[in-house]
Parts: sequence; C-alpha cells; structure tokens
Amino acid sequence: MEKYEMLAELMFPNVTDTIEDLENRYPERKIDGEVTRYAPSPTGFLHTGSLFTTLLDQKIAHQTGGVFYLRVEDTDKKREVEGSIEDQLKSLKEFGIVPDEGVVEPKKEEGKYGPYTQSKRGDIYLICAKELVKKGKAYPCFCTAEMLDTTRKMQEKNKQIPGYYGIYARCRNISVDEMIERVKSGEEYIVRFRSNGSHLKKISYVDKIKGKIEIAENDQDIVIVKSDGLPTYHFAHAVDDHFMRTTTVIRGEEWLPSVPIHLQLFDSLGFERVNYAHIPTIMIKDGESKRKLSKRKDKEAAVSYFLKAGYPPEAIIEYLYTIINSDFEPWRKNNKDKSLDEFKLRLEKMNSAGALFDIMKINDISKETISKLNSHELFERVNSWSEEYNKEINDLINRDKFYTLKIFAIERDEAVKIRKDLVKFEDIYENFSYFFHDLYIKDIDENGYVFETNEKITNRVIYEVLSNYMNIYDVEDDKDVWFSKIKTLATSLGFCTDMKQYKLEPDKYIGSIADATSIIRIAICNRKNTPDMYYIMKTIGVEEIKSRVNNVLAKF
Ligand code: GLU
Repeated sequence: MEKYEMLAELMFPNVTDTIEDLENRYPERKIDGEVTRYAPSPTGFLHTGSLFTTLLDQKIAHQTGGVFYLRVEDTDKKREVEGSIEDQLKSLKEFGIVPDEGVVEPKKEEGKYGPYTQSKRGDIYLICAKELVKKGKAYPCFCTAEMLDTTRKMQEKNKQIPGYYGIYARCRNISVDEMIERVKSGEEYIVRFRSNGSHLKKISYVDKIKGKIEIAENDQDIVIVKSDGLPTYHFAHAVDDHFMRTTTVIRGEEWLPSVPIHLQLFDSLGFERVNYAHIPTIMIKDGESKRKLSKRKDKEAAVSYFLKAGYPPEAIIEYLYTIINSDFEPWRKNNKDKSLDEFKLRLEKMNSAGALFDIMKINDISKETISKLNSHELFERVNSWSEEYNKEINDLINRDKFYTLKIFAIERDEAVKIRKDLVKFEDIYENFSYFFHDLYIKDIDENGYVFETNEKITNRVIYEVLSNYMNIYDVEDDKDVWFSKIKTLATSLGFCTDMKQYKLEPDKYIGSIADATSIIRIAICNRKNTPDMYYIMKTIGVEEIKSRVNNVLAKF
C-alpha cells in the first residue's frame, strides 16, 4: 500500500466509502434553475442582514425555477444557542420566506440531499478528508495550542503574516513515516489542508455581485477537521455546497477574503467550482458618517424589532428590494399593483459598495402599505399581530369590534384622501386610545391637558370656545353645517376664519380658525393632531363629548 494510503487508513479506519460513492448518493440535480441556500449557524436571532440574504436566495432560486434550501451549520457546539433555528424559521415565515428543501420547519428535514444539519454529516466530511490525506493533500497536525500560540506571538513580534504556512507549518514537513508512527502511538491530532498556494500570486474570479475580483492566493494550511471530529466552516462549505449541488453561494461579504481557500478546496477535492455572490454589508448613517448595522447598537439589526413593533412584513420586504436592486424603484413606479414575483432581480444590478439602511424610508413604505388596508383588513391584521406581540392592543381592539371598525374607518374607507398616520401597528395605541373613555381619562390624569395658552388665548378664551361649542353642537348636522357653525362661533369670539387675512394682520385677532378648532380637538382628544374632528365626534358620541368638555370646563 502506498504510504499516504496507509496514513489515511490509520487516521480513518472506519471510513469505507469514497467520494465516488458520495457522487452517486447525491447525483446532480436535473433542473436548470439556480440552487441557493441559507446556511445559518444556530447562534442567535434572525439578523436583518440575514433576512436580506434569504430574500435574495429565495428570489434567485424561484425566478429561475430552481431550489432554495436551508442548511444548519452547527459545527461550533460552544456557540450554539438553544431555539435559534426555530426562532429564525418562524421569523422568516412571517416574511413569507420558507425554504423549499432542507430544514423546512423546526426539526423537520425534506429533500434528497440531506442530512441538512452539519452535525449529522460527520461521515461525509470524513470521507472527503480521508481522500485528501490519501492524495497527500491533507495531513495530521500534532501541534498543541501552546505551540501555535508561541508561533503566533513570534510572528506578531517579527511583523510577519500570522498563521500556519511555509516554515511555520511545522507538521507539514514531517515525513509520512513519522506521521504514521505518531498516529499509531495514539498522539492527538487535527487534520490540515496542504496548501500549494503562494500569497505572492493572485487568483481571479468573477463574483456575481462584485464583478471581477483579484485576490492573493491562499498559502495557509487551514484546519479542515477539528479535534472533535467536526469540520471547520471552510471544509464543510466545500463539501456541502458540492454535494447539495448548490449553484450560487450567496453570502455576506465578510466571507470574500476566504474565497481563495474555498476555491483551492473545491479544486483539490475534484469538485466543480460554485458561483459566488457576496452581498455588501448593510450600513447605517451615524451622524455624518456611515457604519455597519450593528447587532449591539441598533435595534433595527434584529428582525424581531420590526415584527414586535408591527411593521407589516410585506413593507419590510418591499423596502429591502429597493436596496437590493437599483432597477427596482423605477419598475415599481410603473407597476404599482404588481406582485414582487413579477420583478426580475439581477444580482449584477446590486450596489456592491454597500447598502444604506434608511429607517425613514422604511417608515414611509410601511405607512403607504398600511394605508392600503380597509378598516376590516386593518382589523384582521392588527388582531393577528397583537395576539402574538401586544396584548394591550389586542384587548383594546376587541373590547367592541364594531366600535374599533368605526374608528379604523375614519379617513380610510371611502375616503378621498386616505390618512397615513400609522407607521406600524403599535401606533394604534398612541393614535386611537383617546376613543376609549378610560384611556382618555388616564391620559389626562397622567399627562394633563396639552392646551397651550398665551396672552391672547387664555384659559378664559378656552372656556368661552368650549361652552359655546356645547351649545351649538348637534350630532345631526352634516359636515358643512357643523363647520360653518364653528366658524360663526369663532368669529364671534374674535378669531379669524380666513387664514390669508390672519397672516396679514394677526394682531387684529385672538387667533386663527385653526387655533379655535385646536381647542375643541384638545378638549375631546387631548391630542394636537388627529383625523377629522367631525368623524371623531360622530364616533365618540354626543354623551361622551359632553362629559369630556364639561370636565375641561370644570377645571378652567
Ligand atoms: N454559517 C455561516 C454563517 O452563519 C454561513 C455562511 C455562508 O452562507 O456560507 O456565517
């Protein structure tokens, strides 16, 4: 037996299958479309950047008639967080992202290319590692952590590139005979890749997002199998993306510097190279400068923030499209009602310099999205969202569904101009709680009235406006009559009903008609801004209006 083969047998005595066998077990897929994957490590919540990635994965696969699968990368057992994958799958589902294959639901795998959880694929990695050892392309490394540490310190001191390469790759140069002896004697080892690269040479490849990339070749003898028998990310990536027949690896640009390692691994294993698409990092404005959206600093970095606050998921997806593709907004302008499925996404149209995350724009899109719901749709959406995320709002809207629907209908159903004051479902409380007697009282008790007085608009004037208003208010009046009565009242008290005139000679008046209506608005809602007062009053009802106004009068 050839010496490397002997070494491989000693290192992997239980491995009998070959790469050839794996090629047969996982045959090429008989589809033309792209095969993409999301490969989360179970280390935490769904990051906004990951939502962005999965959106691309799913879109690219589906628009080409391909497959989007999910693979769990759980080889770093120390960093594992319980429930992370369940949580990520649940969040993804709320955004309409469900993998076609792989881990499609918590603890449920589907598809012929599994297992889709790396910790269950140990045998597959070892088959590949054994093959590399046989060919002299991988070797056992007996270096201890202390030895590696000493080397690193020395490299740092001498300002040399850190790592395990060239003369520092101590075990690389051990004779095969010695390797065999040491493995036989039971010495502990890990498995390293034998790189044939030089960092003085460059490789080039065409990234589907970043275009042509030139980058130094890899010369590091990276670890491929760790002491726990599990593969490193690099090795598992090559093995899994080959045998799961991925066509395009879409991942964060933090992996771009590792491409030289990955291409070497694909080549050494005799695998056809995959395509890469490295997604620019999501940036956020911080004062005048830009920085990465940060898990620690930005609440928007966690997808759960948007879900909890009640942003409609489709609004977030719509927003993400605007940062994915420069083609998207012009398309949307001309295709206002079309489904996103009809938009053809092109990776090469992505802004490769970095996507700027703009919360103001998200808010605008979200407002627009909510404004398209009629009162019944809004109720259903808020109801199912609040059931999960906001008990207080859920109780509120269900106190009297009919009343809630009336509130929601104001400036929404059949309105000429729909009011866009809800950015997210959570805003329901702030925007509508005053419709409910107890919450209106609670607000006054806790925060007081928001009336603003000055030398002209005094408590006395507020009193006059409100007491007169109670005399003229008739719930039967139509909107025009109602408003003309307010105008007459305001004029009689010295307010100006013509805004232009008021601007010309403000000193001649106590205030404008807007100041007069504001007094009524505050007495009834304790808000400076509300939807149309006429409809609010009709909804709240005359008895409640009287009681609220009388309450104010009693205090002034
Ligand atoms: N498990 C890796 C991560 O979470 C996956 C990177 C990739 O998509 O290849 O960063």
